[in-house]
Amino acid sequence: MLVIGSHLSSSKGFTGIADDALKIKANTFQFFTRNPQGGKAKDIDPRDVQNFLKIAGEHGFQKFVAHAPYTLNPCSDKQETRDFAKLVFEDDLKRMEYVPGNYYNFHPGSHVGQGVEAGIEMISGLLNQVLWSQQSTIVLLETMSGKGSEVGARFEELKAIIDRIDLKDKMGVCLDTCHVYSAGYDIVNNLDGVLEEFDRVVGLERLKAVHLNDSKMPFASNKDRHEKIGQGTIGFDAIFRFINHPKLRGIPMVLETPNDLSGWAEEIKVLKQNFH
Ligand code: FE
Ligand code: FE
Ligand code: ZN
Repeated sequence: MLVIGSHLSSSKGFTGIADDALKIKANTFQFFTRNPQGGKAKDIDPRDVQNFLKIAGEHGFQKFVAHAPYTLNPCSDKQETRDFAKLVFEDDLKRMEYVPGNYYNFHPGSHVGQGVEAGIEMISGLLNQVLWSQQSTIVLLETMSGKGSEVGARFEELKAIIDRIDLKDKMGVCLDTCHVYSAGYDIVNNLDGVLEEFDRVVGLERLKAVHLNDSKMPFASNKDRHEKIGQGTIGFDAIFRFINHPKLRGIPMVLETPNDLSGWAEEIKVLKQNFH
């Protein structure tokens, strides 16, 4: 079964997300836990959650991905920004327990000139503060394109973060196809090789979710510009090989392509038609 969906608006709560997911025939999805630029999250409405869980059960929704705001940077050089990251992380993980057993994805962070090593220390330091042994959520490090001083464009950096975490069983990785291609992993000409490298460095068992995007930018450009499926430098053929790869079966794949609901419905249709 192809587990496929897109990034959806959370402005109408979980019920609104479920409605949109059904409209586009998705069986997974992603949403921002709050305004992507940060800010306070809306209070959870238990009736909204109950309604969502009912719909999710009836329609066989698979695990979903909640995405942290972009402004969350655990390895900022400013104490107040690092404090904000901790606050948001703690609050989001608490809220995630209303919908147990799903994924919380975040961008590892930008070290803003302090160096990758220092960044890795701060990111793992935050995680060791906010993870707890009874949580049901798995936290995902997203693979990054390597723009600016982003940490997490190399598989080795993700591995180094996970290595420093006490509760390793709470950690996974979300692979963004646009980002890894921009970071210099050639999923177009050598998908097998990239997955072997991921397995060797991080371990494929850590790969819990995928962001399925085409890219506006050339290979190894370290630029992060998503494109619609088939219209970018990755292309239909590589995307179809990706969704059909035996090592990636059953992993939730979320479109973050520049689309509206009807565009995502069309992409999901085409992807399902090309899934064997
Ligand atoms: Fe992201
Ligand atoms: Fe992404
Ligand atoms: Zn991106």
